[in-house]
Amino acid sequence: MLIRPRPWFAVPAAALALAAIALGLAVLAAQPPQAPGQFRPRPAEGRDPELPPPSIREYKPRSTLVVPQHPVPRAKFPAIDVHGHPPSPTSATEYAQVVKSMDSLNVRLMIYAGNNNSTRMPAVLAGIKSSPNPDRMVAFTNINVSDVGPGYGRRAAAQLETDVKAGAKGLGEIMKGFGLTARTSDGSRVKLDDPELDPIWETCARLGIPAFIHTGDPAEFFQPLDYSNERWLEMALYRDRRYFDRSRYPSFNDLMAERDRLFAKHPKTTFIVAHMGWHANDLGRLGAMFDRMPNLYTEVGAILYDLGRQPRAAREFFTKYQDRILFGKDSFQPDEYPYYWRVFETNDEYFDYYRDYHAFWKLYGLGLSDEVLKKVYYGNALKIIPGLPRAGFPPV
Ligand SMILES: [Zn+2]
Repeated sequence: MLIRPRPWFAVPAAALALAAIALGLAVLAAQPPQAPGQFRPRPAEGRDPELPPPSIREYKPRSTLVVPQHPVPRAKFPAIDVHGHPPSPTSATEYAQVVKSMDSLNVRLMIYAGNNNSTRMPAVLAGIKSSPNPDRMVAFTNINVSDVGPGYGRRAAAQLETDVKAGAKGLGEIMKGFGLTARTSDGSRVKLDDPELDPIWETCARLGIPAFIHTGDPAEFFQPLDYSNERWLEMALYRDRRYFDRSRYPSFNDLMAERDRLFAKHPKTTFIVAHMGWHANDLGRLGAMFDRMPNLYTEVGAILYDLGRQPRAAREFFTKYQDRILFGKDSFQPDEYPYYWRVFETNDEYFDYYRDYHAFWKLYGLGLSDEVLKKVYYGNALKIIPGLPRAGFPPV
């Protein structure tokens, strides 16, 4: 025979009240104080998944969000990539391939900012000049920052001048080893504002060419590698992106302070600070630098994930500092450029980024105005880098 439990209303009221008070006291005793209006318990509090949780690399949830999509395979205006690392134009076949990719992306001009130097410069310049597309690429020259001692700066400056006379349009990209690993002749770390290097920056000013400098890396690379680090995956993948050992590397802020002293000390030199100075996650800091140093410009290579997660603040920043920002991509992967166009040009929401170890979040479009796009894509580069081919660019 079926025994039915007694319904709750059949329990004597006094017993029910006592039970409720006891339960209430027990709950109060077990819980820390809570904010007024806070509901508890939180649904997942104290629960463990009944299935093994996926790893950081396995969990790739399909987005169920349905919103309009506007992929942008070609830039709206012809672009100049000031942070170009394409294959060397010394190979005619590869140069032709690069130009083909540029055509499909609407990149009109590529600045070859590779690790060039006086030895390689003649071949690089000849490769561009002798190609069927001599107006699609220009080269910057570079200096080899190592063994810095008395006389180094003057020698490097003389080499720079020779390369510029031969056709180089700027200096850089000076890579991040300058500041992190480059050594003086006595074995100490070369400081970015080392006075021995002053002749180089003074020569840039005299020749009217920009110095394009990459300093450091994202601030998180200088922090301990723990589960609260936003770049945990990237640092776990790449041993050489861990700078938390203070016996080997300066702190992020000390390094950036050195950099800023260098820029401030040479107000007549035009500096392009690569990767938005690694302050794309702190645009107020970069804005303060722009306000303080009129000789400073930047480019947007490899920090798209930081712009795309703050579309409103980033649009405001690009609008305010539209005369100071240049387009640059860094690593030459033709299929990655359209992500930049989409972030800059559209108001699309919550779309994929291309590299999981840079960012585990989605991107949003900034919807920049045509006026801002033209300056960022090519106008500012034409303004601060003398002698660029100007054909094919509409008036800004
Ligand atoms: Zn680079």
